[in-house]
Amino acid sequence: MPFTDILAQDHVIDHFKKAIKADHLSHAYIFTGQEGVGKALFAKEFAKALNCKNNEKDACNSCLNCIRIEKESHPDISWTDREEKAKFIKIEDIRNLQDSARLSPLESDYKIYIIKEADRMNEEASNCLLKTLEEPSPNTIIILIANSITSIKDTIRSRCQIIRFHPIPIHIIVNQLKDKSDADNNKIGWISRFSNGSLGNALHLLDDNHYEINNEIVTRMTEPDMDNLVFAEEVIDSYLSAGDSLEEKRQILKSILHCILQLYRDLLIVKVMNGHDVQQEKMSLFNAGHEDTLQKHANYLTREQIMYVIDEILESIKYIDFNLNINLLVENIITTITVLNSKAR
Ligand SMILES: [Zn+2]
Repeated sequence: MPFTDILAQDHVIDHFKKAIKADHLSHAYIFTGQEGVGKALFAKEFAKALNCKNNEKDACNSCLNCIRIEKESHPDISWTDREEKAKFIKIEDIRNLQDSARLSPLESDYKIYIIKEADRMNEEASNCLLKTLEEPSPNTIIILIANSITSIKDTIRSRCQIIRFHPIPIHIIVNQLKDKSDADNNKIGWISRFSNGSLGNALHLLDDNHYEINNEIVTRMTEPDMDNLVFAEEVIDSYLSAGDSLEEKRQILKSILHCILQLYRDLLIVKVMNGHDVQQEKMSLFNAGHEDTLQKHANYLTREQIMYVIDEILESIKYIDFNLNINLLVENIITTITVLNSKAR
């Protein structure tokens, strides 16, 4: 894949095409933007473009350099990543990078160091990296990849050129999912909206049963006689037992709450539309395909009740990050949902 084929990041591609042409590359970059928008993919394609034996400004994907960079086995292109379940990138990995960056490239014109999850470096690792950035070696490029730039030390940030990656537009995600799966349009549409501009997330959602869980949430939460307490316990318990770390459990709870939030957002749209055809008015429902159910349920609720529920869910989502006792958190959320639904009836 030529690096000019990276999706929806034309501003980044233009920037690097010009920089390569003018031989005006920075010695350090931070690639920032949400997960799953192509930052690491771009770093790899950029490394190929700089080292390709056949092309001057792009990858050929067939020369030895392109092939080895693709396989992450090129001696001059180094990848650093946090180990699974480790809280931070290992300090030894940054020290190795520091030692290696002093040496000249072995085979290519450039040595490139790509640090994934660079927002997960502790103080010691950050300081070690800072020393390398303060004394850049010629023909060495360091690329820090980070979802959020705020966790990277100011002193590091100020020594790097910051490249911001944008969320991927929904129609591009839809097309990609259609190419890669035979899922029906409702599922593809839902995943594209839920992935929030991240193709990586969308592809991940395609593989798990999130869409089906969401449908169950919509169906059961709009049943006239549902027992919210039983339902919430069921869903949350099953998700809690699936996650390994506290962080995973939090993410799982958040995604359940986001499903419920989107359901109430849809109910609000239907309520505001007041019987007008939502599709005809080109209003985009998150849960397209459930129009009749949504319309029926919206009839039970006032606009104020729906907005109250939305506020409460938003509060709960915020609360997840501050609560260390996950059991207490689950009980609180279950109670919140139950109280809200009984108020809404
Ligand atoms: Zn090549």
